Amino acid sequence: MSSSRETRAPGQVKEVTSLSNPIVKDIKALALKKFRDRERSFMAEGLKLVLDAMNNGWTIRTLVYAKAGRGNAAVEKAAARTVASGGLVLEVSEKVLSSITRRDNPQMVVGVFEQRYHRLDDVTSARGDVWVALDRVRDPGNLGTIIRTVDAVGAKGVILVGDCTDPFSLETVRATMGSLFSVPLVRTDEERFLKWRENYPGMMAGTHLKGSVDYRSIDYSDKPMLLLMGNEQKGLPDSLAERCDRLVRIPQAGRADSLNLAVATGVMLYEIRRDALPIESQETK
Ligand code: SAM
Repeated sequence: MSSSRETRAPGQVKEVTSLSNPIVKDIKALALKKFRDRERSFMAEGLKLVLDAMNNGWTIRTLVYAKAGRGNAAVEKAAARTVASGGLVLEVSEKVLSSITRRDNPQMVVGVFEQRYHRLDDVTSARGDVWVALDRVRDPGNLGTIIRTVDAVGAKGVILVGDCTDPFSLETVRATMGSLFSVPLVRTDEERFLKWRENYPGMMAGTHLKGSVDYRSIDYSDKPMLLLMGNEQKGLPDSLAERCDRLVRIPQAGRADSLNLAVATGVMLYEIRRDALPIESQETK
């Protein structure tokens, strides 16, 4: 690896070809929540995601890349940054990378990062700030899609209330497409959330199939907003619904009982952030 020799001291890159290498085993174990919780770390696949994380100040513990990454300037730079921040770099065979990611055609790079959560006290409440609170979200794809949408509309972050799916699972991380690294996450239980909400100065709008108002009939623009979304199967429990300033519904015309949680969140966020998002200039033909 020609340029790596210039940027890294010898011995800082370990070559690994054995599936039974203990470091590889530890990384593979991160597929399980139990080990992610214990280590407070998680995997991000692909050079783009790894660079997104690094550029947003996330702490990398281990960078793993396939032999094919040798000589790739971006991979080498990521490796040098990992070493500079005290992390470990592994150069592995394709077989090892496949087993880490459980994919036949794995990405060339995998990063192991420290998990990061914010506190309820970090939730901002300036005029125009929008946070999404999710009650017991269970589906990793939904959570990842919501984090990505929160990022896209310029909302501030996501509060996970109660027993939610793990935002640091491989599936959720994949679904965020990198937005995980720029959207602050808070986790709490219902009791603490409701206590904290007593002093929240903005409006808490809950979405409910039995909501009393159409979501388009409310002016969301002049205060901080907390958008509360219910669990995929059960919707919002009364204990949360009762504490909302408004309960809104999204009208439906067909036979579907409800919208998918991530879709409903997207519809709401685009309405709440309507005035804040720039109008794209029209293309003239
Ligand atoms: N069976 C559940 C129920 O009775 O509420 C359906 C839950 S739905 C799949 C998941 C969440 O998406 C709901 O709790 C609500 O937050 C939101 N949602 C879905 N469709 C909605 C609609 N038409 N109006 C308001 N919220 C909706």
